[in-house]
Amino acid sequence: MHAITNIQKYSIHDGDGIRTTVFFKGCHLRCWWCHNPETQNFDPELQIDIPKCTGCGRCEAVCPAGAITMSEPDENGRKAVIDRSKCILCGKCVDVCLGNFRVLVGREYPINELVRICLQDQMFYEQSGGGVTLSGGEVMAMDPDYIQTLVKRLYREGVDVTIDTCGQAPYSNFEAILPYVHTWLYDVKVIDDVKHKKYVGMSNRLILDNLKGIAKAGARIYIRIPTVKEVNGDPESMAQIIEFLKENGIQTPQVNLLPYHSTGSHKYGKLGREYPAAELTAPSDEEMKSFVEQWNKAGFANVKIGG
Ligand code: SF4
Ligand code: SF4
Repeated sequence: MHAITNIQKYSIHDGDGIRTTVFFKGCHLRCWWCHNPETQNFDPELQIDIPKCTGCGRCEAVCPAGAITMSEPDENGRKAVIDRSKCILCGKCVDVCLGNFRVLVGREYPINELVRICLQDQMFYEQSGGGVTLSGGEVMAMDPDYIQTLVKRLYREGVDVTIDTCGQAPYSNFEAILPYVHTWLYDVKVIDDVKHKKYVGMSNRLILDNLKGIAKAGARIYIRIPTVKEVNGDPESMAQIIEFLKENGIQTPQVNLLPYHSTGSHKYGKLGREYPAAELTAPSDEEMKSFVEQWNKAGFANVKIGG
């Protein structure tokens, strides 16, 4: 699979300079705090903004699977209610919803089309030291042939390619594109594997092994740490990450501490899912500054709060 949910132009938080960020759909991890839940499942999904539904009934009328019924009117009016187990993702309801409250997320792009879109802003990349960031979801878990071809094409066009990864993919996928990738934005969540399994859904073993592997191969890596008070927002958890990097000789020109935020929480309802991180919190500003000092004292000079 290599479906894409969004191509975001003029991005300034996904690597150096001005970038085009391509969000791939599909990831093996399930971080509680994920703010792009529409990029977790590998298959296309129907996203519905139910509070905005005007109850016109057009979607119900065209649904070939009988997956939509109109609710009884209440103080919010009538709403289109979906039975997702019946939905066959035909997209007919999307086409008729006049308010665009229904969106089918996830579309595959032929390589030529995606490269053409990425090259549209090459002038901005050159002026700003930017380029293209492949993100997700987990880009490294996509069809490796597609990703290798895409990265090589962009490289040959002189575009700086950055890969934003959580690291959960076979090492061979990384190895195949190492020479063509300028920078890796590599997520490290928490070293304690019990916590990792709880909050991320899988062991961190492969993730950390892959990080060691690409570092040994000379990759340029920015370490990114989603910082959540209940997960890793404490001095001991930070110390464990620092120790891991030092023990394994992993050099990094930049560390980004990304404070938890819940801005993606509204997306879960649109996908018919519960937001799993309602009880998680961000460290205070003072705590975030103290983590920066902790990293600085450990010899990491360029530590930023945020992307
Ligand atoms: S995508 Fe197709 S099957 Fe699914 S709810 Fe819409 S019209 Fe019905
Ligand atoms: S077509 Fe759109 S506005 Fe009309 S009932 Fe369906 S979701 Fe609601």
